[in-house]
Amino acid sequence: KLYNQVQDLKGNIRVYCRVRPFLSGKSSYLSIVDSIEDGNITINFSSKSGKGCKSFTFNKVFGQSTTQAEVFSDMQPLIQSVLDGYNVCIFAYGQTGSGKTYTMVGPKELTEKNQGVNYRALGDLFMLAEQRKDTFRYDVAVQMIEIYNEQVRDLLVTDGSNKRLEIRNSSQTGLNVPDANLMPVSSTSDVIDLMNLGQRNRAVGATALNDRSSRSHSCLTVHVQGRDLTTGTVLRGCMHLVDLAGSERVNKSEVTGDRLKEAQHINKSLSALGDVISSLAQRNPHVPYRNSKLTQLLQDSLGGQAKTLMFVHISPEPDALAETISTLKFAERVA
Ligand code: ADP
Ligand code: MG
Repeated sequence: KLYNQVQDLKGNIRVYCRVRPFLSGKSSYLSIVDSIEDGNITINFSSKSGKGCKSFTFNKVFGQSTTQAEVFSDMQPLIQSVLDGYNVCIFAYGQTGSGKTYTMVGPKELTEKNQGVNYRALGDLFMLAEQRKDTFRYDVAVQMIEIYNEQVRDLLVTDGSNKRLEIRNSSQTGLNVPDANLMPVSSTSDVIDLMNLGQRNRAVGATALNDRSSRSHSCLTVHVQGRDLTTGTVLRGCMHLVDLAGSERVNKSEVTGDRLKEAQHINKSLSALGDVISSLAQRNPHVPYRNSKLTQLLQDSLGGQAKTLMFVHISPEPDALAETISTLKFAERVA
């Protein structure tokens, strides 16, 4: 009953949009956001051909003053679904600096109040599992991986190893990256320790020049196994919490070498993701999962009974206009 209700409330693919506040020191900027109401956002633009505005429609739009708790409260039904044996994907999409990591993880100085989706999702999962403990026994384990230049790497390593990992889609265990560390967790403090480790490893590859974390996809996967204590039936659900690489387009005439290669990989995988989600949304029988590591990794959690939330992020500053429009168009295509 529970999941029928969830399914009625939430279709299988939802698209949300969040506008981050102005960053300190930039409060005198004019916002390009004209209005937000009821899943609609209207953007002011000015171009050579004049000024105007354009509206975009989503399942939900969160304005600049939305709190982390408010954002998460809309995702809570998805957490129930995972315990009911569904697969869930939540993506944070947007240009670098638009607030993806803020939504998924939180700001640098983490407090209970400003914690992002990842922490809250696990906290809720433990809480709901506890509430069901008379009927179900749940085991929860996490993996955290990074995709950089179409290579998959384990983020939960302590020995600095940097082995390339393979994706398999047919494993019986439901693990698509069987060689990545799978860490059992039973409390939010376990999760915090692992996420700190993962975030540290994500930064390791950063050169002095560039912040690598904005050019790789990171994916926290939560595997949940629940055993019905009376019938012995086992349910398996999993949730992928994905902080995507920055979606900004780079100017091909300005970048070369490694930077250009990175940009091409990001571009390719984000468009592959867009293609997969939009073919699912249109109920197209052919879904092109094979075109990127990202969509291969998430194949069994995109489509079918799985629930997907594409959460796009935009910056309110006028100098972000071109990227903001391109983000909103991407999101509209998959909606
Ligand atoms: P991204 O991961 O998309 O590159 P970040 O999450 O790092 O962007 O956000 C860029 C900056 O803006 C960070 O300093 C972050 O703390 C801040 N920020 C982003 N979203 C918010 C928000 N909703 N409220 C307050 N600060 C935010
Ligand atoms: Mg980030």
